[in-house]
Amino acid sequence: MGDSINLGRRRLFGRKADNAIRPPFVREDTEFTDICTRCDKCIKVCETGILFRGDGGFPEVNFTQGECTFCQACVDVCPEPLFDKLKSPPWTLKAQISDACLTQQGIWCQSCRDICEPGAIKFTPAVGKPPSPHVDLDACTGCGACVAPCPSHAISLPPGNTA
Ligand code: SF4
Ligand code: SF4
Ligand code: SF4
Repeated sequence: MGDSINLGRRRLFGRKADNAIRPPFVREDTEFTDICTRCDKCIKVCETGILFRGDGGFPEVNFTQGECTFCQACVDVCPEPLFDKLKSPPWTLKAQISDACLTQQGIWCQSCRDICEPGAIKFTPAVGKPPSPHVDLDACTGCGACVAPCPSHAISLPPGNTA
């Protein structure tokens, strides 16, 4: 009975679940949508407000609202065995910069570099055009802080973009 319910949930939500960014520290040996009860507790407690009710009512991350501080408030409040507090790194997300970057159009911009605390965004000097950014994947924590300040929405953290 339980198995058939889980299978149904996976059919209903599985496709989207593959593309959704779940909260940090989620265990990898579980199917998130099988265990999450959609209670919203993690969403309410997130200090930066990046968690929202996504497809099917399951929590997802939206970096356009802010960054993840890895504070673990969501981990602590969740009543289900979904999280591993000791998971390191907390997730494998990495920032990716697209061709929409203003420097690709000859416009000077370094907003992302200024916001990145670990200094993971480096600018390569170029002759006759502004320096353009690239992400040092080893240094990037996937915090998402660089997403919102980018004036051309060129930065994302796609779930498949892992180091
Ligand atoms: S770790 Fe903190 S900032 Fe990050 S999603 Fe959880 S509650 Fe929000
Ligand atoms: S607190 Fe846990 S069970 Fe509740 S919505 Fe968040 S992840 Fe799901
Ligand atoms: S996601 Fe965070 S650590 Fe990675 S490049 Fe952006 S601001 Fe820097």
